[in-house]
Amino acid sequence: MVTYDQFKVNYEGVLARIRQACAQCGRNPASVRLLPVTKTNPVEAAIWAYQSGMRSVAENRVQEAESKRPSAPAELRWELIGHLQSNKAKQALQVFDVMQTVDSAELVVRLGRLAAELGLVREIMLQVNAGDDPAKFGCDLTEAPRLLEAAMAQSALRVTGLMAVAPLSDDPAVAERTFTNLRRCRDTLAASFGVALPELSMGMSGDLESAVAAGSTCLRIGSALYGSRSSA
Ligand SMILES: *Cc1c(COP(=O)(O)O)cnc(C)c1O
Repeated sequence: MVTYDQFKVNYEGVLARIRQACAQCGRNPASVRLLPVTKTNPVEAAIWAYQSGMRSVAENRVQEAESKRPSAPAELRWELIGHLQSNKAKQALQVFDVMQTVDSAELVVRLGRLAAELGLVREIMLQVNAGDDPAKFGCDLTEAPRLLEAAMAQSALRVTGLMAVAPLSDDPAVAERTFTNLRRCRDTLAASFGVALPELSMGMSGDLESAVAAGSTCLRIGSALYGSRSSA
């Protein structure tokens, strides 16, 4: 991981990129949340984010978040951005405040039942395979209405919006298309179900500009803040 001083420089750099991207498409920077991705890095990554004013961090594995969370500020919210197996659903509900990767009706029913049993209400996002990538998790675009319907039936879950990961590609048009698909999917669902679904979690270190242009409200940023994971 980078040093604290380098992290501060990186953080200012990411904020500048977000401001610039917002200026280019006439959006208010306050409408885009920077969600630091602390996976594979020590708990200091989460503590630094908190000290810099951020109030949520993201992890992709249940166990890793569970082991870091007790050492981090209690006010920090933890969001799951990795694939959730149904046998980890209960643990995930206890560790995470938000689960962004709910991608099947079976999982949503299980989470809803377990959350109710635990007396918890949890925010979730629905992960959509908006880039139509066989290597990515997420429900198909055509299955999103059925998934939303199943999620809205769970009183212990609040669906705040949609999440997508763009396919790996050297062609920036692939990410652009993915983000536009996710936004259209959200707009269609919001209109046909009469719900707001304000959150669009899309965009990472390499493609945040096109995600902002397509309407992202949540940028999941790891390497641009903490350095590349492979060399860490
Ligand atoms: C790791 C990860 C990120 C952050 O990726 P960077 O390119 O390091 O910014 C974002 N979203 C998901 C789902 C991830 O797994």
